[in-house]
Amino acid sequence: MQVESQPAVCLVTGGSRGIGAAIVNALAAEGMPVALNYHRSELAARNLAERLQEQGNRVLAVKADISIAAEVEAMFSQIEENLGSVDWLVNNAGISLRGLLQDISEDQWDELMGVNLKGAFLCMRRALPGMIRRRSGSIVNIASIWGQQGAAFESVYSASKGGLIALTRSLAAEVGPSGIRVNALAPGPIATDMLTGEMTLDELAELSDEMPLGRLGRPEDVAAACVFLLSPKAAYINGQVISVDGGWKL
Ligand code: NAP
Repeated sequence: MQVESQPAVCLVTGGSRGIGAAIVNALAAEGMPVALNYHRSELAARNLAERLQEQGNRVLAVKADISIAAEVEAMFSQIEENLGSVDWLVNNAGISLRGLLQDISEDQWDELMGVNLKGAFLCMRRALPGMIRRRSGSIVNIASIWGQQGAAFESVYSASKGGLIALTRSLAAEVGPSGIRVNALAPGPIATDMLTGEMTLDELAELSDEMPLGRLGRPEDVAAACVFLLSPKAAYINGQVISVDGGWKL
């Protein structure tokens, strides 16, 4: 019988803000060594890492644009040298894009797919050989409810998350025999910069009223589900997409 053990290190991409930062906090609270990737928010990433280090956690902030293979390679090398092997991976980094499809430029398509889909591919491709060698690994991809249902004015974003879901399911079948699980979360509206940057206060209040639980999701709601899926408590959950949307689209 294969029993999952406590992993060496967890890497969270886009761990500087929002949902990623909540996942970093939740993992550190469980005593996990965490590598926290950031791209532009250096100050936020360093502050979070320092605060957790002061609390006795092993946390490393690592800069990389995850859409660039060489930066992903350098990030993994830095983590391996300073913390250890990555056994848990959270592909969380993402960007959003609103607009009519005919107004989206090729550069915007490339940038969005580069972060939301290629970034996850690059990180999983780099992490998997070590995970397979150790027969130890758990991956959670942060998709979106739009990746399942699609959304008007967010077709490119939705396509990237739909692709991430297909990647999750396919890879789960591929690497399950090597003792590695791959799952995804599909959050609904979560109160982070991504959401508040796109909507007015009135729109946010309206959306909140629409939610069966009477509020928007919090980053911590996603983080709790993520830590569970990563952990041996979810040892027989593989290739699944779990909604964290407060029952919004039932
Ligand atoms: P957010 O607050 O805007 O944070 C985005 C994170 O992604 C930041 O940490 C950012 O890092 C990082 N990032 C962006 N481009 C990157 C790149 N090229 N390389 C590395 N990191 C990069 O967004 P969020 O709401 O927390 O979203 C996190 C994930 O949840 C995303 O995948 C998003 O699509 C998904 N999601 C969010 C919602 C929602 O309602 N908020 C709903 C469904 C799904 P820097 O700031 O350091 O650049």
